[in-house]
Amino acid sequence: MTKPKKPVILLILDTLMSTPLEEAVQTGYAPALQFLMERGRYYPQLVSSFPTMSVTIASTLLTGTYSNKHHLPALIWYHQDENRVVNYGTGIKEIIETGFSQFVKDMYYELNNVHLSNEVKTIHEELTERGFESASINAFVYRGLYTHDVKLPRSLRVLTGFHGNLPIQAPIYWSLGAFSKFSPFTFPRQPFSWNYKSTFQELKFLIKKRKLPAFTFCVIQDLDLRVHVKGPMDLTGIRKIDRQLQKLFNQFKSWDEAIEECTWIVMSDNGQASMGNNRDHYVIDLRKVLKGYKISKKNISPQRKKQIVLAVNQRTAFVYCIGNHVVKDRVIDQLRQDKRIDIIAWENRDQFHVVSGEKDGAFSFWKGGVYTDEYEQTWTIAGDKGLLDITLTDNKIYYGDFPDALARLSSSLKSHKGNYIVITAKPGYEFKTKASPIHVGGAAHGSLHKQESLVPMIVAGTDLFPKYERIVDLKSWIVKLITD
Ligand SMILES: [Zn+2]
Repeated sequence: MTKPKKPVILLILDTLMSTPLEEAVQTGYAPALQFLMERGRYYPQLVSSFPTMSVTIASTLLTGTYSNKHHLPALIWYHQDENRVVNYGTGIKEIIETGFSQFVKDMYYELNNVHLSNEVKTIHEELTERGFESASINAFVYRGLYTHDVKLPRSLRVLTGFHGNLPIQAPIYWSLGAFSKFSPFTFPRQPFSWNYKSTFQELKFLIKKRKLPAFTFCVIQDLDLRVHVKGPMDLTGIRKIDRQLQKLFNQFKSWDEAIEECTWIVMSDNGQASMGNNRDHYVIDLRKVLKGYKISKKNISPQRKKQIVLAVNQRTAFVYCIGNHVVKDRVIDQLRQDKRIDIIAWENRDQFHVVSGEKDGAFSFWKGGVYTDEYEQTWTIAGDKGLLDITLTDNKIYYGDFPDALARLSSSLKSHKGNYIVITAKPGYEFKTKASPIHVGGAAHGSLHKQESLVPMIVAGTDLFPKYERIVDLKSWIVKLITD
């Protein structure tokens, strides 16, 4: 194995947002993050992928592609060929509906081994091919070139009745809850994943034992849960995480040495939008909006008579027209009647169409053409560009409320097989179907809106920076940091 010049440590602080981060730094709540910011470069508005759900974003980060290429559409989606809903963990009620064994299989096996496209390579795979080692700590997307033959943790064996071995494809260093760990002294509180303290402990172990590989991908998941309940301005979570980061830096002779020896990337994956307080108004029950249609009730194989399947990812939903006699245009018309629905989009022969429940008009776009956007992507556009808050100056496209809107929205419309419509809710609102979790009075994410699409990133310990401020552009930069 090639020794890296300087190991890269990428820490994802799930759901960290720029405003509370800046406030925590300014008020002295977060000295470690402040140190990285002062000694490195701060990006307050990095563009995430769409839908703004962790597994889709992590897949984009690790493969350098959007979901049209990596094929991980969302946290919950309908698998047409298998006629079933895939759920990587939306919430306990929905998981019970999907079936616990199926959820465990989807989450820990199918996601990486089957659903994540084989046409794309993760950073782990690419680095291994080039002779470098890498680590994954507490991430759900981790595909690598090493097979770890693991048994399910005991509690999951009992719950699922599955006692065999799972051949997990991961990088050489792989750590995830009760599945696999580095330090003999890290103990999982629950089988699925690590809490923030254990995650830091696993990373600390690699540093202390001088085992840091060329690239370490490390995910801290605790902030997300806090923000869902407490709303976006919660600073306590950031303070707690910063304390762990300080302890990590203390493993080095000095904090300066920490950034001389390693390149640090600390970033978020998605933000969250505050939710309104009135449940009847702010929660859009799609079964009511689509009244008259036979909607599949359970998240298992829909029966033949059903016409519509719903996959709700908080503020974004996929509406699948599965029956022979469902006219998609009629479904779209019905969705348009609800003013709380922001974007209603679908694809037809590589052309993408947008209408809205809130605004009048229609907008269409497709790849290639005379218009160039901020990321040098070219497009043909027609109709009411205000629906995606786009402005034009001399054939140049500028995005407003929906960052990188054309590439992100169209990627989702080509992310998996099926006759479906993508819809997003206005800020303050979220979707629901039978068993979806809801966040009244808290916060939620999932949509294309900048509230949850723009996230902070801090880079310290290098002079090489990414070309564009988008998560999709980070892979090529990280590989360059290590291999150049
Ligand atoms: Zn979340």
